[in-house]
Order: sequence, then C-alpha cells, then structure tokens
Amino acid sequence: MVLWEERSREATPYPDFYTHNHADHILGGRGFVPDGDIDVYAHESTDSYINRVINKLRPIITDRSSRMFGNQLVKGDLGLVNAGIGPVLNAGHGGGTPTLIRPNKTFSETLKVTVSGVKIRLIHAPGETNDQLFVYLPDKQVVMPGDNIYKAFPNLYTIRGTLYRDPVAWAKSLDKMRDLNPQYLVPSHTRPISGRNEVAGVLTAYRDAIQFVHDQTLRGMNKGMTEDQLVESVKLPEQLVEHPYLQEFYGSVEWSVRSIFNGYLGWFDGDAATLSRATEEERGKGMLDLLGEEKLLSAAREAIDRDQNRWALELVNYQLFVEPDHTEAKALKAEAMRNIAHATINPNGRNYYLSQAQELEGSSPEVKELDEATLELLKTFPASNFVEAMTVALDTEKSQGIDKRLSFDFTDVNEQFTLHVRNSIAEFKQEDDPDAEIRIAVTKGDWIELVTGKKGFAGSLAKGDLSVEGGVTSLPSLIGFLSMFDPVK
Ligand SMILES: [Zn+2]
Repeated sequence: MVLWEERSREATPYPDFYTHNHADHILGGRGFVPDGDIDVYAHESTDSYINRVINKLRPIITDRSSRMFGNQLVKGDLGLVNAGIGPVLNAGHGGGTPTLIRPNKTFSETLKVTVSGVKIRLIHAPGETNDQLFVYLPDKQVVMPGDNIYKAFPNLYTIRGTLYRDPVAWAKSLDKMRDLNPQYLVPSHTRPISGRNEVAGVLTAYRDAIQFVHDQTLRGMNKGMTEDQLVESVKLPEQLVEHPYLQEFYGSVEWSVRSIFNGYLGWFDGDAATLSRATEEERGKGMLDLLGEEKLLSAAREAIDRDQNRWALELVNYQLFVEPDHTEAKALKAEAMRNIAHATINPNGRNYYLSQAQELEGSSPEVKELDEATLELLKTFPASNFVEAMTVALDTEKSQGIDKRLSFDFTDVNEQFTLHVRNSIAEFKQEDDPDAEIRIAVTKGDWIELVTGKKGFAGSLAKGDLSVEGGVTSLPSLIGFLSMFDPVK
C-alpha cells in the first residue's frame, strides 16, 4: 500500500526520520527540539522495539553491550582504537544527554512525504533490525540505507546478543535499493558513495556476501556439519574477501555462521555426545586428574608463547571450572585475551576481549548513578515493562510456599497491574486484582527511583510519594514482598 501525505503542520518544519530503533539513531532529539514538538517518522514497529530496551534481559544485555562497546576501557588504552563504523559510542563514555522523542508518524510498507518541496520516500527494509527503513529521494537519486549497509562486513550477529537477524530478508532489502539504481548512497555510518556504477557494485557485493554466508552455511548443515566445522569451512570467495565493504571491521563471518546455524536448527549440533554434556566441574576435575594443575597451566603458558591463545583459553578454563578464582589461571586467561584482542581488527570482538581481560585482572565495572536525564528517559517507557521484568528476578527459594499478590496503581499514567507470587513463580497480570494482599499507589518516576535505591521506602511513604494501603503498618509486608526479587542493577 502506498500512501501520499502532504505535510500541513507548520509548527514543526523540520521533521525527523528514524531509520530504526537503535540508540545511536533515536537518542538526543531534545538537544535540537527541546519541547519535542516535531514530526518523527518511523516504521510502525519502531516504538515497540524501543520499548523492548527495558525488558527482562536488560541486565545481561547492558553488561554485554558495555563489553562490546568497550565502555569500561580507558580512553587511550592500546586496544581501544575505534568502534569500526565510527569513533566510539559516546553515550557510554559520559558524553551527551540521552533524550528521546517518540515516533508519531508511522507506516507499514512505504510512505511518501514532501518536506519543503523535497519528495521523500520511506521504504520498510528489514535487515540489521526488523523495523529498518531506508530513505529515497527520487529527485536527487539518493538512497539513505540506515544501518543495512556500511563500510564493513554486516553485523549479521551481534555479540551483545539480539534477536535473530534474518540474512535472507537483509539481502532482499538491499535488492530493493539496487532496483532503484540510485546515483548516491548515504549510509548512517561511514562515507557516502557517488556514481551509479559504484553504488550498484557495492550493493551487489554486499548482498552477495550475505547470501553466500547464508547459503553455504545451510549447505554444510544439510551435510551434517557442526557449527565448529562450518566456521572452518565457510569463507568468503576471492572476489568478496578483498572487497573494501566486506572487511570484518564490524560484523564477522565466523559469528554469522554460528548465528545462522542457531537460527535454523537451534543449539543442538546434532552429535549426541553434546546432547547432555558433562558438567563444567566434571570436565575440570577430569582434566586436572589427568594432567595435574602444574602441567595444565604450563601447557597453557606454552600455548600462549606459541601464539595459540585460543587453545590456551580452553586449557585455563578447565582450571577455572574447578577454581573460578585461581589467580594464575585468571592471569593467563587475561593475557591470552589481550593477545587475541591486539591481533583482532573487529572492534566488537577486540573490545569484548579487552574488557573481560580487565575484569579478570580485578577491575570491577564502574556503577553509574541514575542521573536526571536517564530518569527522564526511563519515564518514557511503559510502566508495565518495569513490573513485568520482575518476573525473571524472582528468587525461587525465598518465594517457595508463598502465595501473595502486590497490586500497583501508577497514578500518573492511570495504569494498574498485579504481580502474583505463587510458589516460586511470579505471574504478571495487566490488571488490578481487587483481592491483592498488598496495594500500592505511586508514580512511574517515583517507582523507578525506589527500586533503584535512589529513594527510600519509609521516607517516600512519609512524604506521600508512595502510598501503601494500610499505611505504615503495611510497609514491612511490601518490603518483604520485594525482598523475594533480585535487586535491580
Ligand atoms: Zn547505527
């Protein structure tokens, strides 16, 4: 379906266009438009993908993203060179203000808009994300592909952990751009390309590389190959491996192969030997019984000296399976990781190795205080996300034999939810349960400050920022209920 829309609202002459939901593409809007009164165009699913940032996986994705972007690495660290498709992710380095203006003009397949006489066409193009779109300026023959192409091998899998990125859809979206035969290609990251032939050449090589990795992985899978075997065998052909747009400065062929295997067949590699593995402790003890600690660690040392760092990592892990705090094993592991990092051109991998090495050497991640700007940003997320995420933080032992309900009334947004803890399960209900044993009323912002420890419960109750049915006498049962959940990081 094609919609023509002529802009009429004079109040916001400069609309914004979000090509997808990633932070580097949606945050900071209020730096340009403080009151947020502006048209923001995006795919109809973008807003729900933005909301997913506050979800049940936020703690682990935050940790892994921080390693991948090198947020804890010291600027000037030998290994912290750049982010591959840009200098560094500045938001994680204490720069900028993470404000957000939500999309308010959305579409499903294509949308045509005219802004100040410039014809703009938005085309849904799932690839790096499901909500991705590209912008086409027909009069200027310009395509702005968002993050579906940049000067680096595509990040078909990101090691911070995301939903499966479908390579077939990604290649098809690049084909939609090829069909337009544009004169200019202006990606969100890395330099623009001029000239029909140049643009067509790059788009074709990029989509061919994606299809090649996908097809050859499936070909090997059909022959019964395992993930490890496929990583060894699927290599880009000669005409692509040298291509400047396919160097592994952001994505990696190896990670892509594993992701495609998992996307189609799941985690089981097909060999029953791995169907139910020996425990880590069993493997560690078994190897130590066989070799002894001294021999195991000197073999790891020798492997590092021979530059077989990956093998060294496998060896030291046997020791760490048994003794996770073994000083020498940790030091060897950090050394091997640093060696790999310094020989890795891929910044995501390099930063991850360096960050983990730093952690092994005893540096603990810096804990950031919840500042005003972040609190304002968090308040734009649905209240239900915060309550629902609690279901996966339930301590099974503390909640065994408990049958209790907490009813939430978020007064500023007039939304009610219930969390029912029932024998090691926390059921989330998108409605008020009138029979709930504990009932609270609070604003979304105050709740966020309470659970992140920025505000105290007793003080908030006294000030009227939090109300608990039954007043102060009911406070211990509220605190008791919340103590069944892991604390919010
Ligand atoms: Zn981006």
